[in-house]
Amino acid sequence: MPTQWESLANEHILGIAPYEPGKPIEELERELMISNPIKLASNENPLPPSDRVQKAIIAALSSLDRYPDGSGFYLRQALAKKHGVMPDQVVLGNGSNELIELLVRSFLRPGDEAVVPHPSFVVYPMIVQAAGGVRVMVMLKDFRLDLDAMARAITPMTKIVFVANPNNPTATIVTRDEVEHFMSRVPERTIVMFDEAYLEFAMGSDFPDTLAYVKQGRKVVVLRTFSKAASLAGLRVGYGIADADAIALMNRIRQPFNVNSLAQVAALAAIDDEAHILECVRMIEAGRHFLYDEFKRIGLQYVPSRANFILVDVGRNAADIYQKLLHQGVIVRPMTPFGLETAFRITVGTPEENRKLVKALRMVLGKTSE
Ligand SMILES: *Cc1c(COP(=O)(O)O)cnc(C)c1O
Repeated sequence: MPTQWESLANEHILGIAPYEPGKPIEELERELMISNPIKLASNENPLPPSDRVQKAIIAALSSLDRYPDGSGFYLRQALAKKHGVMPDQVVLGNGSNELIELLVRSFLRPGDEAVVPHPSFVVYPMIVQAAGGVRVMVMLKDFRLDLDAMARAITPMTKIVFVANPNNPTATIVTRDEVEHFMSRVPERTIVMFDEAYLEFAMGSDFPDTLAYVKQGRKVVVLRTFSKAASLAGLRVGYGIADADAIALMNRIRQPFNVNSLAQVAALAAIDDEAHILECVRMIEAGRHFLYDEFKRIGLQYVPSRANFILVDVGRNAADIYQKLLHQGVIVRPMTPFGLETAFRITVGTPEENRKLVKALRMVLGKTSE
């Protein structure tokens, strides 16, 4: 009998279920022969990158024979300036997902605990588990991160606390005051990671200024991304901001060319693209309200959103409705893996996509007559 690959594997990864991304549009076209399906399953921006960004990418094509700048000098400098920190406080990632992994691999030792909200981004517990850490799962309360319970869950063994704000898949935020109170209870030596992938959609006076904690010298790592409001999910670029010592440690294990050159020039061009961000944010805001109204008319419960997606309860088996929506050419994300058997996470699309979603939902739920 040949040796089974599994018996050779790092035992920490054996219990991990593979990450299931939203179904790619091309796959649905192939499998069901559906033309022009819409994907509202991965919280992507439905608008393409701005002309400026596209031009910057095209201009960089002729230099693709060269490796990228491994230090991401210009992009880090621009990000540091924008956020009022030093360039050595910025680390670039192949998407912010890579930075979650770099953070965990840099700091979490086998047996260390990590406090992870649930339901939240499934990547956190997965990476903690792969590193041999102990996941301390803390349930959400009323669809929001329960920062009180998370603070209570911290022990002397806790190395990292994960805070997704806004949270995915609920699209709710924790407020400035709640975070302030939470931070006053977190021990000095415990690292708090704020994942702010949807920040641009959540902005408001109640949203916390987590960079202030970095500037105060707290053990805080703030993650941001170009994947959502900046329309660059396909290029994979995100960044982290923290104390320079923390960044230096993460840089030790970072692959030297982790962010490709097109991603670097695109992100650099996107940083000051206020007009594009504003256009997206306005479109999403209007789309949220359109969908709330339509959900109400159909009689569906939803969680008011501070991001570009909405958690909605269809009151029926989500796995079944998911398949039926696929046949209507609409890809959404069933929340069955989170134990929410009748809920979907639906990304807000363009006005046209939102109308198509509503039409398909009415059709499969048998609510066409109203
Ligand atoms: C989409 C998302 C990200 C962004 O990931 P990238 O790797 O930057 O594309 C990060 N965190 C959460 C919670 C997300 O939903």
